[in-house]
Amino acid sequence: MRLQGKVALITGAGNGIGRETALLFAAEGAQVVVADVNRTAGEAVVREIEAAGGQAVFVRADVSKAADCEAMVQAAERSFGKLNVLFNNAGIMHSDDDNAVTTEESVWDLTMGINLKGVFLGCKYGIPALRRAGGGSIINTASFVALLGAATPQLAYTASKGGVLAMTRELAVIHAREGIRVNALCPGPLRTELLMSFLNTDEKKQRRLVHVPMGRFGEAAEIAYAALYLASDESSYVTGTEFMVDGGITAAYVTPE
Ligand code: NAD
Repeated sequence: MRLQGKVALITGAGNGIGRETALLFAAEGAQVVVADVNRTAGEAVVREIEAAGGQAVFVRADVSKAADCEAMVQAAERSFGKLNVLFNNAGIMHSDDDNAVTTEESVWDLTMGINLKGVFLGCKYGIPALRRAGGGSIINTASFVALLGAATPQLAYTASKGGVLAMTRELAVIHAREGIRVNALCPGPLRTELLMSFLNTDEKKQRRLVHVPMGRFGEAAEIAYAALYLASDESSYVTGTEFMVDGGITAAYVTPE
């Protein structure tokens, strides 16, 4: 098993990428802390892991709140004795996120609070725990939109993910000699609740798919396998990367008909 003996904390683990990753990490031997603002969803994931013979605990945490982030890290150490892997994955895409003129300041602040400050706070409280464990792996969920602009705007979301990428690079450099690796995971467009509720018509979905060489949305499980590699010791020389898992979208200039 690829994560035997490791303790992993995953934010936004109640749904989508976080949920699939929690299930996969547990199946690969990790003890998993399922952190989410949605208690019902998070507790259901813990039950699924336990039913499959794995070990997990749920912690209700809003990653935009410092006290919650401190408490989720404490829960990892209290429940399983240490923290080896921190997956800062929770994020939102607000339906009113648009261009600079029309996006409300409140939408900007909410998005930045969860998507960008949430990663900072995860690291603020997670890094001391990783140090206590003798090192570890941090994975921050960014996005392909950190690298590409779109005419269908979601300005706050895009800016937040650009921030995650820049912060990841700097964290990787700061902590490289401590045995703490920090990588960004950049998913392409996925068939999860987050994007499907934003692209809420067939026309909007098709408009996005035109740009994906593979011609389909990705699945959360396809991102979980990339997270597994970054979490495991197999990636021991990998730090500071932008790990693209995007169906080829960032490689494309013109896509197949
Ligand atoms: P999702 O909506 O399926 O799941 C997100 C989870 O995060 C939910 O369980 C939700 O309750 C939780 N969450 C929301 N706000 C939270 C908060 N403040 N504190 C703690 N938990 C919170 O979304 P997903 O598609 O799995 O997205 C996960 C990450 O991947 C996000 O950071 C997202 O921006 C990123 N991403 C998604 C796509 C995509 O196309 N779906 C593409 C690139 C990047």
